[in-house]
Amino acid sequence: MNKIKVALFDAKDYDISSFQTANQSIDTVKAPSTEGAGRVEISFFETRLTEETAKLAEGFDVVCVFVNDILSRQVIDALLQGGVKLVALRCAGYNNVDIEYAYGKIHIVRVPAYSPYAVAEHAMAMLLTSIRRIHKAYQRTRDFNFSLSGLTGFDLHGKTVGVVGTGKIGRIFIDICRGFGMKILAYDKYPADDLYVEYVALEDIWRRSDIISFHCPLTNENHHMVDEHSIALMKKGVVLINTSRGALIDSEALLQGIKDRKIGAACLDVYEEESDVFFHDFSGHIVEDDTLARLISMPNVLVTSHQAFLTREALSNIADTTLNNMEDFFTKGFSTNEICYKCANVGKCTRTHKEKCF
Ligand code: NAD
Repeated sequence: MNKIKVALFDAKDYDISSFQTANQSIDTVKAPSTEGAGRVEISFFETRLTEETAKLAEGFDVVCVFVNDILSRQVIDALLQGGVKLVALRCAGYNNVDIEYAYGKIHIVRVPAYSPYAVAEHAMAMLLTSIRRIHKAYQRTRDFNFSLSGLTGFDLHGKTVGVVGTGKIGRIFIDICRGFGMKILAYDKYPADDLYVEYVALEDIWRRSDIISFHCPLTNENHHMVDEHSIALMKKGVVLINTSRGALIDSEALLQGIKDRKIGAACLDVYEEESDVFFHDFSGHIVEDDTLARLISMPNVLVTSHQAFLTREALSNIADTTLNNMEDFFTKGFSTNEICYKCANVGKCTRTHKEKCF
């Protein structure tokens, strides 16, 4: 078979370098028509995949995309017209893909796990930074200001953490919290029977937790699960950590909760309108998103721009698994990492072990 031709969208320097390494000695260009000596033939496009840019994928077998490339009906139709057969997500979450519309038309593969440690450790890094005021202390001491005023934190030991989603990342976060001597409460739509943890109703997570960390996928049913109603149930001073997907939290309600002094701190690696800003350098520009600007201006809000996955280990696993997914799909005829809307509704996909979803 001819080499698989891949159009990799939203390519950043770290994507190019990790995919180059995984693909071995291919040429690097940030433009189409890369001839390479690697496992597959990759063209790197800096642009995101959109309705307008989908034309660039014409003649490619695969488009490889990340979290903010939106695979709408229109984009899927444009890809099909251009002869694309496979969408290879280089991420775990797939809320950016209309998987129901894609079913029967174009196959979708993803990287279900690349380094759950990267994300869980980042969640804890954000929590510690926030509650021990490390980001403030760093700025002060660089300015030779050695005052401690306003830097009082609190112990994690003995505090109750509510973990929403006890999959790969949530479990590791639970282990890390146990190491700190914290009490754990968990909520999962599909509780695991091999996890020694106290599962409670979501309402109990809101009511009983000092800290709440989100590790579940974004779905239609949990969109804005943190809103004015759930915030009203939370403890005063609660700390929220979101490394999952931005739209789990209603940003306006979060802002109000902070202004009301109800929410003690928010650690946000994701934001519901992030696709317009995250991953880009807007320093020196006027940020149009007033809610984001106001959140960032708050002393108790810490924002990182969807950075939790960004470790050397994760990038290498993402590139390896993505290339394996493509090769499996075209050579073996299936990939175990294929997803469809039936897979997403647990147990409804009829795929047996060694076949495509449709
Ligand atoms: P996973 O599939 O292993 O676990 C997700 C868990 O959430 C499962 O146990 C599932 O039963 C549960 N769940 C599903 N729907 C739920 C609901 N409505 N309410 C509560 N729980 C629900 O996934 P994972 O690898 O642990 O990743 C979790 C999420 O982290 C991903 O969906 C993704 O959105 C996010 N993520 C973020 C980054 C980042 O860089 N910030 C990187 C990777 C993943």
